[in-house]
Amino acid sequence: MTYDLHCHSHFSDGVFDPEKLVYEAAREGVNTLALTDHDTVEGIERAISAGYEYGVKVIPGIEISTTWENKTVHIIGLGVSINDNALCNGIAGLRRQRKHRAEKMVTGLQKTGIDITAADVANGVATENLTRTHFARYLVKKGFAKDIRTAFDRYLKKGKSAYVRGSWCALEEAIEWIRNAGGLAVVAHPARYGLTRSKLSHFLAEFKDHGGIGIEVSTGRSTVQEVMYFADICTSYGFMASQGSDFHEPSQYGVRLGGFPALPDKVVPVWEHPDFLVHGRI
Ligand code: AMP
Ligand code: MN
Ligand code: MN
Ligand code: MN
Repeated sequence: MTYDLHCHSHFSDGVFDPEKLVYEAAREGVNTLALTDHDTVEGIERAISAGYEYGVKVIPGIEISTTWENKTVHIIGLGVSINDNALCNGIAGLRRQRKHRAEKMVTGLQKTGIDITAADVANGVATENLTRTHFARYLVKKGFAKDIRTAFDRYLKKGKSAYVRGSWCALEEAIEWIRNAGGLAVVAHPARYGLTRSKLSHFLAEFKDHGGIGIEVSTGRSTVQEVMYFADICTSYGFMASQGSDFHEPSQYGVRLGGFPALPDKVVPVWEHPDFLVHGRI
């Protein structure tokens, strides 16, 4: 069984529609796929239907943007009920926040002499759920950066002209929405927050306290050393281990659906959790 429990469709910053995403996952040998778009569940029903067609079990998932001690931290929800009111209202608030932030990012870019509007960035985009990746793609298309990474480095990263701090929800809110919607809360790509060991420890204690059950030990961009490091953390803190490519688009740093280092034997994978919910059959 190959589980890929983190990826994006064009309802957030991925480029594939849900059908294409599930089709490509099947082609890569993934049998269980969680669609985890940023702050939306819009693509889930289509992904589940496509899963029936292509023989992929689909897990209704989400990647929620939170703010913890002034840092943006992403929390994955696995097996959430996509009709849950509190979850839907909560993430609708985050998408409104994205709209306000996009307007401020436009102002930031205009100040550097880049003449754009939010409508330009949204043009041809399948969602109103604008992320920094959409800005990056637009800047590349218009020749302001040679690739997405350069667009982030030059304009979109913290400290750059178009960077606007997101006012996301609190860590405990995201966990509560996920749990109340029947899902399992997992910390996405824990290596990417620049947390020292002691800060990480503090964060994980809080995450666990609020009902978080796992951390993503292996992602499409994890090194084998990082996988070992977070596997150790899983066993010492009593977390289950998740894995997922965080796939967005084919060109992205060679990340493929189902592509990430294997979980070490000593961890307990999240799919062994009794509440792990899948839709579909093989
Ligand atoms: P946002 O949630 O709108 O701030 O956008 C965050 C998304 O931007 C992440 O989910 C990544 O897909 C992408 N991203 C963040 N930092 C970088 C980077 N340095 N290079 C390329 N993509 C990035
Ligand atoms: Mn993303
Ligand atoms: Mn993320
Ligand atoms: Mn992601």
